[in-house]
Amino acid sequence: TRTPVNVTVTGAAGQIGYALLFRIASGQLLGPDVPVNLRLLEITPALKAAEGTAMELDDSAFPLLKGIEISDDPNVAFDGANVALLVGARPRTKGMERGDLLEANGGIFKPQGKAINDHAADDIKVLVVGNPANTNALIAQAAAPDVPAERFTAMTRLDHNRALTQLAKKAGVTVDAIKRLTIWGNHSATQYPDIFHAEINGKNAAEVVGDEKWLAEDFIPTVAKRGAAIIEARGASSAASAANAAIDHVYTWVNGTAEGDWASMGIPSDGSYGVPEGLISSFPVTVKDGVYSIVQGLEINDFSRARIDASVKELGEERDAVRSLGLI
Ligand code: NDP
Repeated sequence: TRTPVNVTVTGAAGQIGYALLFRIASGQLLGPDVPVNLRLLEITPALKAAEGTAMELDDSAFPLLKGIEISDDPNVAFDGANVALLVGARPRTKGMERGDLLEANGGIFKPQGKAINDHAADDIKVLVVGNPANTNALIAQAAAPDVPAERFTAMTRLDHNRALTQLAKKAGVTVDAIKRLTIWGNHSATQYPDIFHAEINGKNAAEVVGDEKWLAEDFIPTVAKRGAAIIEARGASSAASAANAAIDHVYTWVNGTAEGDWASMGIPSDGSYGVPEGLISSFPVTVKDGVYSIVQGLEINDFSRARIDASVKELGEERDAVRSLGLI
């Protein structure tokens, strides 16, 4: 029998946590034959709510779930972690300055990065979901100098999935007909969903669609503002689709991309495509044996270049801000 994989989830009592934990326990994060131990990290006032969720996990009698531990101490929650999903973050409240938000998140992601550095398993893989995800990932990474930098990633898979569906609807196909879509840059309103290399049933997506006005004025803003549209429609944030994307991100990272396709992940740049080295930016990646690599050699047209540059510029500004706060 296999040794269970230790999966730590922060902000476990939150909305995304509630949509995420049951799917992890059912085997959807790692695979249908991989047993898991769940480690739930919460802030002290939310421990009781986390216990309630753990009761429901118990009551689901998941055959793959071998244990649940709950803690408000990152040193305990990350002990032996193989996969860490950093979901809990300080939400931006009305009137909050960006500097305050970054500082509050520094207080969360710096100690978590340190705890990962000191206690996680050697094969630790980290996905940051809590916003601003790319920069929170940078903060955690900087606090974990003994962990290979590439193990810290940020989620742009929800943007990727949103873009897949918008493109499929436009082309009158279903999402499984589409391959090689890319999200570039920051998980923010500046992100750039790129269809110029995407394929619809093997044909170039931009040519199939043939509508640059739709691309610029409909597709890109719809994908970028989808989170706000969902809050507007359901009166609550897009927690289930965010949890779904977190599942997809880790599943792909562990189990690989399909032949001829790729995925989008926020990862430390190696300088590819003019993205300054070290910024955690979204790229097209292929994954094999648990290791991702940036897809190389794509031609970037002027339309794409301007948008990638704008998003990367924003990432650079966020990095400068956390650097000046002494968080990295
Ligand atoms: P959610 O579970 O809804 O969201 C958590 C984080 O995910 C937020 O930063 C949110 O960003 C982000 N996020 C990323 N993508 C999405 C998306 N598509 N839709 C919605 N959110 C997205 O927040 P809750 O407030 O319900 O729960 C947060 C929990 O985290 C609380 O239980 C709190 O106690 C806990 N927490 C735990 C910490 C810890 O473990 N040390 C530290 C801080 C909080 P955005 O704000 O932009 O919506």
